Amino acid sequence: MTTPVTEAGIRERLDRVRENLAGALERSGRGAGETRVLVASKYYAPEQIGALAAVGADLLGENRAEDLVQKQEMFGDAFEWHFIGHLQRRKAKIVAPRVRLIHSVDSVRLVEELAGRAPEGGIEVLFQVNVSGEESKYGVGEDEVERLLEAAAGTGGRVRARGFMTLAPLVEDPERVRYVFAKLRTIRDRLRGSWSPHFDLSELSMGMSSDYEVAVEEGATVVRIGRMLIEEDGPVRRQDGS
Ligand SMILES: *Cc1c(COP(=O)(O)O)cnc(C)c1O
Repeated sequence: MTTPVTEAGIRERLDRVRENLAGALERSGRGAGETRVLVASKYYAPEQIGALAAVGADLLGENRAEDLVQKQEMFGDAFEWHFIGHLQRRKAKIVAPRVRLIHSVDSVRLVEELAGRAPEGGIEVLFQVNVSGEESKYGVGEDEVERLLEAAAGTGGRVRARGFMTLAPLVEDPERVRYVFAKLRTIRDRLRGSWSPHFDLSELSMGMSSDYEVAVEEGATVVRIGRMLIEEDGPVRRQDGS
């Protein structure tokens, strides 16, 4: 866990993220407000979460079920909560009733588990796609995505697919991972028409501190920002989710 800088520091960096985001939306001919900023809360101890509310963050994404519980006990009402980390099936019952959206669903068995654990009205999910094929990444290959959609369609509305999430490989130059984001959008566009009777696949969760501007240019509707808010010298990539 990294200790965040001061509240003023976080505020300044969040403002910068929002400015850069607005620029990326404009450059790509998208409307202002088409992309939300999710703050990755894993870098903050529970007692530090209040600083995020104070600077106007309204959407948090947590990586660990236990941390989610702890942080929500203290600041549950201050944010919309999502889950962005790898989700083990045995933790589904903890996470499912507590978040609006799970970004990281990547197996049929997890879909089935979530169907049994979803609150009244069901749970919304994104399917995590391993676009780059990096071995260290969670997520399914493009050819497995349809199986997940079929599994969700089989839950009778208890698990509702809203789109897709991806993690890009770690690189210095974000232009080198532009293809990853473009590919995820292409996958979504291909599936969107045929699945529209079942699901509104409008969400693309892609882009982190080091590559979010490129992701926005390629159609991200949610960027997941961590390091950028707490590091003095710009983003340092960390993806391990711990
Ligand atoms: C930590 C994390 C982020 C944020 O990454 P940064 O590089 O710190 O901005 C985004 N997505 C996931 C799944 C994460 O675990």
